[in-house]
Amino acid sequence: MVVQERVSPTPALVQRLRDRLRQAVGAANVRDDAGALVTYATDSTPLARGQPDLVVFPATTDEVASVLRLADEARMPVIPRGSGTNLSGGTVPTRGGIVLVLTRMNRLLEISEGDLVAVCEPGVRTIELAEAAAARGLLFPPDPGSHTTATLGGNVAECSGGLRALKYGVTRDYVLGVQAVLATGEVIRSGGRLVKDVAGYDLRRLLCGSEGTLAVMTELTLRLVPAPESSGTGMAYFADLADAARAVSRVLASGVLPVTLEFLDQVCIGSVEDYARIGLNTDAGALLIFGQDGDAHAIERDMRRMAEACAAEGATDIRIAGSDAEAAELLEARRAVLPSLSRLEPLTILEDATVPRSRIAEMVQHIQAVARRHGLKIGTFGHAGDGNLHPTVVLDPADQHAVNSAHEAFDEIFAKAIELNGSITGEHGVGIVKLPHLERQLGADHVALLRRIKAAFDPHGILNPDKLGS
Ligand SMILES: Cc1cc2nc3c(=O)[nH]c(=O)nc-3n(C[C@H](O)[C@H](O)[C@H](O)COP(=O)(O)OP(=O)(O)OC[C@H]3O[C@@H](n4cnc5c(N)ncnc54)[C@H](O)[C@@H]3O)c2cc1C
Repeated sequence: MVVQERVSPTPALVQRLRDRLRQAVGAANVRDDAGALVTYATDSTPLARGQPDLVVFPATTDEVASVLRLADEARMPVIPRGSGTNLSGGTVPTRGGIVLVLTRMNRLLEISEGDLVAVCEPGVRTIELAEAAAARGLLFPPDPGSHTTATLGGNVAECSGGLRALKYGVTRDYVLGVQAVLATGEVIRSGGRLVKDVAGYDLRRLLCGSEGTLAVMTELTLRLVPAPESSGTGMAYFADLADAARAVSRVLASGVLPVTLEFLDQVCIGSVEDYARIGLNTDAGALLIFGQDGDAHAIERDMRRMAEACAAEGATDIRIAGSDAEAAELLEARRAVLPSLSRLEPLTILEDATVPRSRIAEMVQHIQAVARRHGLKIGTFGHAGDGNLHPTVVLDPADQHAVNSAHEAFDEIFAKAIELNGSITGEHGVGIVKLPHLERQLGADHVALLRRIKAAFDPHGILNPDKLGS
């Protein structure tokens, strides 16, 4: 359980600051009522909780700058927050302070078909941009599973991935420019709508994945691409997990860069079938879902090549969707994994680790062995094409032994990811959850450098303390 001891600002300090914040952003936008304090004590991370002193909802960059100046002067922690869907405790107010909720900054300012960019405020939800782009024949590729709720500010701050990352990359690959407010209130811009721009250090890249620890982003310029004509989807069952992992390598070596290459282990296949009754073969050891987008000819060619690669590695059954409805049915298997697992027990802990693609089978076998040793139910699914796996444990939080076992199991899983030259997080961020593992992956010198960078941006350490090594 991640519950931080509260080293809190004094009540007198909080009250003084509250009054000044109310002058800066309007009384209705500074809350300290029990409803707000309870709501913003947690995010989507299981078992992680803090206790904010104030919750502030700014509407403009100037208001954000005023809040940060006042907070910095008072040495009050500020926790930037979008929709709170992160899974790493990234918005948990571990030391109290101000939760700075950016969802009122939700204007999609511009979509430029000529420059292939969108300019928006950080509180715009991912799906809103995706839909606005699609209406103009354009695509914003990053598509985290939380896209209907998560904000673009949160996506950039976590450098979120999604199902299309193998072909299109992750959020970082679509951030052309950022306007951000530093902890001391100065407003900076890095990048813009230029494709080429090497003036100065690439701070917009540094802010991608900075998890609210360096600055508060208040405007984003994001790259769009032409939308593909159409798409194709297929699935292949394997008796054995190792066969499926080899098929991933063979697909990638076949000259195809799929838009989708997703993986479900046997636990996930069984739980999806129990939940969605879509006729999955629950005897199979693993399932790959593969897809391509582009023009009709390229899709036909690539889907055939991917099916051949799966057959060559011993796929027991291969299906290619003949229609959009059939494709949606195949993709349902992937979409239903998390909801299906989460109904097995009251608590679901979805984790995130990445290994080189050639080590996927080894990693999943390790996860299965860890699950058996600890007597835990762990289903593993994920973005096989990226080597990004989501081992997911389901348990009863009232069972303290199971909770402790889950923590031990994840320790072992992350240690294995590092041993295989992988990462403790591919897309969910470090937050507070992965902090104990960060130095093991990066080394002490690297973490010390992160801290010096943090100090240059945020000399008094007010921005999102306790996250990402800060
Ligand atoms: C069901 C579900 C499915 C998910 N699927 C995926 C997935 O497929 N891929 C994936 O990568 N993630 C996924 N996630 C994780 C999560 O949705 C993403 O990390 C998302 O980008 C967070 O956005 P948010 O608006 O909720 O940010 P929050 O959770 O509010 O914040 C996340 C981080 O960003 C910082 N932050 C937020 N806004 C700003 C800002 N304007 N300036 C500076 N810092 C800021 C916060 O301080 C925090 O560190 C999933 C989560 C859930 C619950």
